[in-house]
Amino acid sequence: GTGTLPRRDHLVGADLHVPVAGEPRRYVDLDAAATTSASEAVVRAVEEFLPWYSSVHRGAGAKSQVSSARYEQARETLVRFVGADPATHVALFPRNTTEGLNLIAFRLGLTRDDVVVTTAVEHHANLLPWRRHARLRVVDVDQSGTFDVAAVVAALDERPTPRVLAVSGASNVTGWLPDLAALAAAARDRGVLVVVDGAQLVPHRQVEMAALGIDVLAWSGHKMFAPFGAGGLVLGRRLLADGEPFLVGGGSVKAVSYEEVVWADTPDRDDAGSPNVVGVVALAAAAEELRAGRERNRIQEEALVRALDDELATVPGLRRLGPTSGDRLPVAAFVIDGVHHGEVAARLAREHGIGVRSGCFCAHPYIGRLLALTRSEVEQFHEDARADLHDRLPGAVRVSCSSATPLADVAVLGEALR
Ligand code: PMP
Repeated sequence: GTGTLPRRDHLVGADLHVPVAGEPRRYVDLDAAATTSASEAVVRAVEEFLPWYSSVHRGAGAKSQVSSARYEQARETLVRFVGADPATHVALFPRNTTEGLNLIAFRLGLTRDDVVVTTAVEHHANLLPWRRHARLRVVDVDQSGTFDVAAVVAALDERPTPRVLAVSGASNVTGWLPDLAALAAAARDRGVLVVVDGAQLVPHRQVEMAALGIDVLAWSGHKMFAPFGAGGLVLGRRLLADGEPFLVGGGSVKAVSYEEVVWADTPDRDDAGSPNVVGVVALAAAAEELRAGRERNRIQEEALVRALDDELATVPGLRRLGPTSGDRLPVAAFVIDGVHHGEVAARLAREHGIGVRSGCFCAHPYIGRLLALTRSEVEQFHEDARADLHDRLPGAVRVSCSSATPLADVAVLGEALR
């Protein structure tokens, strides 16, 4: 049923209609792991702020001062939002998770001799930046798409000792939640820096960086009811104290000549260029709304997980990928016998007005393991990709909910798939 559970704030576009066979049909958005619509609270915060919209830090005028104050306040809001201490930690505002992880991978000054432990679960955003700067030691997954803490511990204990453990807080493909507390504790014990890709975790769960022992956390605003273009990167100030910033330019310096640059202090050093102050105000508003609604959201999401399990279990020929028991996000990946994943997604959109995603979800190694691709099938994948033979590429269908997804939408999906 549609459920009597308390609902979070209304999302903009929740009542959008799209044409299905020439008739308007309420759009069923089951692609929250990609992006969520803005919440009304976020829209209100942006509307209130827009008249004050002005350049930060460099202007003497009243508007500039208000903008600067809101921008700096947002740093503290975000540090607290993820359970870190503003005395020791700072928030930067990269565009998204991808930029945040590229920034930290650059800023750590890794060399080719450094080892980064990462896992087969990772989104490319938490794989390619590390691959660019260091040597990877990858913890594999089993066919259910999960790994044991013991496997990570073994990788941490291998020589040479790694500098970084880079791990996802939650999988964007299967919704699986690795045991972050145990992973972070093991890394910490060995003096290994813990970097968490929080793109999927932060929208769904309260993250307590200090309590868990996470050193660096990156996430995106656009998956947590804020718009594109502003994300969070929270980390210890000491990690940014020395060295050149990832982006160089105005604002990152105290003095410049052709011979010498005096870099600004943290966080200005890592904030070159005019920042996205409207996006940051929106991100902070989304963070405050999420934090206040965690309990309510959790109840709704647990119901959504059960509804997805029940509905997908009744679809003939459907095979789930990833774990189907234990604590998970309301995300499900699957394949259907004899129907290409792209065809399933296209027909859901065209014939039912349901938005889902298909393909490899920027996690090619993980999809390879979930589908049990052989080495030669992976080679074929690369060859087909080079030749742009999209219809031949392996992949799956992914449906994903946010805390604002109505239970009724999952029932609509089940009916459509059957
Ligand atoms: N990591 C994970 C786990 C994700 O789901 C995503 C978004 N699909 C990203 C990183 C990258 O996020 P963005 O595209 O906002 O940089």
